[in-house]
Parts: sequence; C-alpha cells; structure tokens
Amino acid sequence: MTIAAASGKGGAGKTFIAVNMAAAGRISLFDLDVEEPNAHLYFPGNQVSSRRVCRSIPVIDEKQCTLCGECSRFCAYHALAVLGSTVVSFPELCHSCGGCTRVCPQAAITETDMSIGSVIEYEGTYAPLVQGISDVGTAVVPPVIHQAAGFIDPDQLAIIDAPPGNNCPAMAALSYADFVLVVAEDSPFGLHDMQYLIRALHAACKPFTVIANKAQQSFGGLIEQYCRDHQFPFLMSIPDEPEIRSAMSEGALLIEKDPRYRRIFDQILESVTKEHI
Ligand code: SF4
Ligand code: SF4
Repeated sequence: MTIAAASGKGGAGKTFIAVNMAAAGRISLFDLDVEEPNAHLYFPGNQVSSRRVCRSIPVIDEKQCTLCGECSRFCAYHALAVLGSTVVSFPELCHSCGGCTRVCPQAAITETDMSIGSVIEYEGTYAPLVQGISDVGTAVVPPVIHQAAGFIDPDQLAIIDAPPGNNCPAMAALSYADFVLVVAEDSPFGLHDMQYLIRALHAACKPFTVIANKAQQSFGGLIEQYCRDHQFPFLMSIPDEPEIRSAMSEGALLIEKDPRYRRIFDQILESVTKEHI
C-alpha cells in the first residue's frame, strides 16, 4: 500500500507528516516533490546512488529541412516554430511525444537526450529514501516523478511526499497513491487550497482523509468543521506547538526530538492501514 501526504499549498506541513510517519513506521519514503525536494533534510541517511533522468527532444537537420511546417503544425505544445528561414525549437515545452520526427516528410528530424533531473537513493537510518529532483528551469517535471516512483514496491508499505497543489506534478505523484493524507493548514488560506485538492482527488477517485495541521485556537477548528459539514473524512488536528516549529526549523525529526510525538504518527499509520489494507 502506498500512502501519500499531500497539501493544497506549500508550507502546510506534508513533509513534516511524511518524514515522521516514515521514520516512526520504518517505511520507505519517496520524495516526489521534485521541484523542491526537502525530505532528505529531515530524514537521516547516506546517498547510495544517483541517476540522471533524460527525455528525447527533436534536433532539426537544416540541410534536409524544406521549411514545410508540418512539424510545427503537428506539435500541440508549440515546441517547434518555422520562423523565417529556420525551424526554432523550444525544448522546455517539448513533451517528447516523437510525433514531429514521424510527420517530417524529409526525415530531417532526429532525437537527442536532454537531462531534466535525477533520482537519488539514500540508505536511511530508519528506512530507504528515494528522491526525485528536477533540473533548474525544467518545465516538464512528471517524467522525473515517474522515474522516482518506479522504485515503489506495490507489495510493501510506502510513503510519498507529493508536490503541493492540484496541478500536473501533484496529480502525477498522487497517481501512485492508494490513499492520500490531505494535510491542510488550519487557516482560511489552508481551507481554500484544500478545497481544490479535494476536488481533484474526487475526480481521480482517490480515497483520502484530512489532517488539520498548525491548528490554532483563533480559527476554532476551521478545517475540522468544514470536513464535518461536508462529510469529508477527518483524522485529527495537530496543534501549532513550539516543539514542532523548532524541530522543523532545525531540520530534525520530531519523533527523535520528543518521543511523545511518536504516538501521533503511530496513530495516523494505524488508522490508515487498519481501514485500507
Ligand atoms: S516531440 Fe512532440 S512535443 Fe516534442 S517537439 Fe516534437 S511534436 Fe512537439
Ligand atoms: S517537417 Fe521536417 S522539413 Fe518540414 S519544417 Fe519540420 S523539419 Fe523541416
């Protein structure tokens, strides 16, 4: 079973939940938040491997090209354009479908590999960690996510730290999850972003439960109340406590810093696995 910690916005605390839960249960962790992976900062371990992720992009042979424009008309992503006496390519927009190579009547297009990121494996003190990381400036990141997620063993318990939001990278990562922990900051902004994520999870038919994080008295259980009103599953509230804030700012695991918190993460795991395995 694969459990993903997801949130409608960054800073809600999904990495905090994912790393502590993985450490408490000694479960393999997959950091698929490839544009800003940070689970390794909290999850102690040594790097054991690193491999590049590449994808194919077109290369135009100007000597053979007749500027017919077939390739740019075909490309749905506007990654090719005939401008004056040349075909200009925009590799960052290319989705590597290979279509332009096939439609070119002059066989003027070949493909070459472009690096878009890497997948790094760590041997963690508590459990293995696999991290996907996209190269700076890479616009199409799902291939990095898919490559890192390829290490997930569906017969074992695994935890994903998913990208925030409900965009393409987030949904690519969540496609590997059997169950989603929606981590929402207990605030009006947190509620707003959680609503979009829940809509996307419904559309993708993903079972989920909600955890309200950084819960404060001032908002009076906003997230919990919303879930109860809309009959969404709600698991628990985690209070906004100084111990948690200081562990996060120090890059420490909360269960190491204060073992009393281990119970919270055991409880989350038990509740999810009991109902869904
Ligand atoms: S490979 Fe596909 S996406 Fe990339 S430039 Fe060619 S047609 Fe466009
Ligand atoms: S389809 Fe081939 S020949 Fe036509 S513009 Fe593109 S590269 Fe040139």
